[in-house]
Amino acid sequence: MRVAVIGGGINGVMSAWELAKTGHQVTLFERQKLMGATSSASTKLLHGGLRYLEQGSLLLVRESLRERSWWLQQAPALCHPLQILLPHYQGRGRPRWMLAIGLFLYRLLAGSANIAPHKWLNPQQALQMSPHLKPEGLLGAYAFWDGQMDDYKLGLWAADQARAAGVTCKEHASVNTISQDGDLVTSAGILHFDAIVNVAGPWARQLLDASGIPSKHQLDLVRGSHLLVNRPCPAAILAEVPASKRIAFILPYQGKTLVGTTEERQSLTDPINCSDQEKHYLVRFHDSLMTNPLRPDEISSTFAGIRPLLYSNDDPRQASREYAIEQQGKVITVFGGKWTTARSLGQKVAKVVAKLA
Ligand SMILES: Cc1cc2nc3c(=O)[nH]c(=O)nc-3n(C[C@H](O)[C@H](O)[C@H](O)COP(=O)(O)OP(=O)(O)OC[C@H]3O[C@@H](n4cnc5c(N)ncnc54)[C@H](O)[C@@H]3O)c2cc1C
Repeated sequence: MRVAVIGGGINGVMSAWELAKTGHQVTLFERQKLMGATSSASTKLLHGGLRYLEQGSLLLVRESLRERSWWLQQAPALCHPLQILLPHYQGRGRPRWMLAIGLFLYRLLAGSANIAPHKWLNPQQALQMSPHLKPEGLLGAYAFWDGQMDDYKLGLWAADQARAAGVTCKEHASVNTISQDGDLVTSAGILHFDAIVNVAGPWARQLLDASGIPSKHQLDLVRGSHLLVNRPCPAAILAEVPASKRIAFILPYQGKTLVGTTEERQSLTDPINCSDQEKHYLVRFHDSLMTNPLRPDEISSTFAGIRPLLYSNDDPRQASREYAIEQQGKVITVFGGKWTTARSLGQKVAKVVAKLA
């Protein structure tokens, strides 16, 4: 079948690759450059998402943990296991028993894909790994494992694999509208396909609306920002933001420190930038944990992306990270989808396309 994939983020690239592997003739349309949007503005973690256990998303966490292991095996030059500390303070954050149950489940769901067992560190051991953690009230820390990637380069690596499998990638090729009969309109004209896969991430619903295709799914667009700080980070930290249930990260990244992230609802017409308010929020989060406060001149850059989350009326912190695949005629649309699970999402897309044959 002739299949068009719209969107050159990680979900589009992996869908295209999986479709080519199953024998389809695939053309990918990306209106800018491959990996130019959300997929290169992530927290750079290949992870199961420990915090999604609280939402009961056990299947998603299991899928993500297995996919994490696939990425780590496939491209070891662009991603690696990362040990993360979960510090535990007197009177602050979730109770220790809750962290212990969460990590036990995490390990159980990973099964044979687990990287290494988690362990409890006493305050001295925790401070040895992260000497600038505030010592007052520190009861210890859990140390557990996830993966870290260079999201931009790993995405381009996946695009190279897709090309090698036969995918034609067209950059600077914006799709204006699509039809349920398989017509795809670009500024160069109308093309016809046997199936059109709309994987435009945060813009997926916008493309359906522009094309007059109804959908039962809506996207909740939630911006997340990061700071890149010009100082080395001795150990990765995951911790609660004070006076909130939110968690955020302080991570070593390419010799610098990456601090993120935020959750701000926004519309597609707003600029996708880290606001001053988010910058202050992230600095406050860092300084609430570390004895060496961040100086403004150490922040070398900021970046932001929009999470395409399945809409819920809830607070975005509670929004599910599950994704949905919807079919209308020859159009298949993906709503949501984490970086880590892009390959398994692509495999599901390929199964839906196969039914159209
Ligand atoms: C702040 C933040 C942190 C995150 N951290 C992590 C993490 O650590 N680990 C993890 O697993 N996940 C993480 N995620 C989630 C993950 O990054 C995203 O869900 C994923 O990258 C989305 O990929 P995508 O391909 O669906 O979308 P995108 O990467 O946004 O790609 C969509 C592409 O479609 C293109 N497009 C749109 N409209 C058209 C059109 N009409 N014609 C042609 N092309 C079009 C866009 O230009 C864009 O390149 C994070 C997300 C955010 C925002």
